[in-house]
Amino acid sequence: MIIVMETGATPKQVNDVVSRIKTLGLDAHLSEGEERTIVGVVGAPIPPTLDDEFESHGGVQQVVRITKKYKLTGWDFHPQKTVIRVRDVEIGGDEVTVIAGPCSVESEDQTVSTARAVKAAGATILRGGAHKPRTSPYEFRGLGRRGLEILATAREETGMPIITEVMTPADIDQVGQFTDIFQIGARNAQNYLLLEEVGKAGKPVMIKRGLSMMIEEWLLAAEYVMAQGNPDVILCERGVRTFEPLTRNTLDVSAVPVVRGMSHLPIFVDPSHAAGKRALVGSLALAGVAAGADGLMIEVHPNPDQALSDGAQSLTFDQFAELTPRIAAVAGAVGRSLCATGSLLGV
Ligand code: PEP
Ligand code: MN
Repeated sequence: MIIVMETGATPKQVNDVVSRIKTLGLDAHLSEGEERTIVGVVGAPIPPTLDDEFESHGGVQQVVRITKKYKLTGWDFHPQKTVIRVRDVEIGGDEVTVIAGPCSVESEDQTVSTARAVKAAGATILRGGAHKPRTSPYEFRGLGRRGLEILATAREETGMPIITEVMTPADIDQVGQFTDIFQIGARNAQNYLLLEEVGKAGKPVMIKRGLSMMIEEWLLAAEYVMAQGNPDVILCERGVRTFEPLTRNTLDVSAVPVVRGMSHLPIFVDPSHAAGKRALVGSLALAGVAAGADGLMIEVHPNPDQALSDGAQSLTFDQFAELTPRIAAVAGAVGRSLCATGSLLGV
């Protein structure tokens, strides 16, 4: 249910509505737009008499029952696009944000050199895995805490905010001491306890789309985080599993406009895990931006052939530097620009 307040509703009238919702054991989520405030009510059961009660409440313009399963993630509850600020970087605004870095943090030199290279080429957020979900238990599974320390060093050296994956509730405190954004990996996108716990951690959360996740299920994963009071969720399309073996996954470009039509949350595209092959990453990145993505997440490595994970899909520094002006050009063609890097790129 949403309660649309009148344009001139007073703070007291809004507070009274919120208190009444809370006395019923329900949750109230405020969305304060430029013109009016919307109070979103979630929880169950919502008493059938509540519509009439609130319709006659001072300052209330309209009460609307929302029948969609996803609520906080949808436009009805929040009619403005969500814009998330992480240090100096804005996500979900007019500019396209590029996140780049290695699949795994392997060493300080590897991570800091990559951070410098991707920053010089126009990326504004550094990625790198310290806790890695691997298909085989015998593959490199990340440096853990040491990897997080290296990411923090790279942030100090470059000023770039960092994003890294958290795989289990037990690691949230540790990862949260270092990261600016939590990444929930595709394999954990329906790990509801993890989503709830990370929702309490007070930092933005990016949720990769699960390997065979329907878009509504993905929005409901975001709903788990938002229901904990955390509005800063980013969705990231990274390809879904199909019958096609020539790419690692199939990038669902259509997910970008579909999500945009359903949700106010920023939507990113990860062309690296979709493609699985370096040669395809550029095309998929451009397709994502053309489709309206708010940002990209791209894997880059100083020496991809020696990478401990995902080398085949990682770009070299030079390849990444050649790609970013093309991303900026496509962003320009769809009325966006590349995040705060126009002067670097000469565009
Ligand atoms: C990653 O970002 O390195 C990763 C493991 O991604 P995904 O969860 O999308 O497979
Ligand atoms: Mn990877």
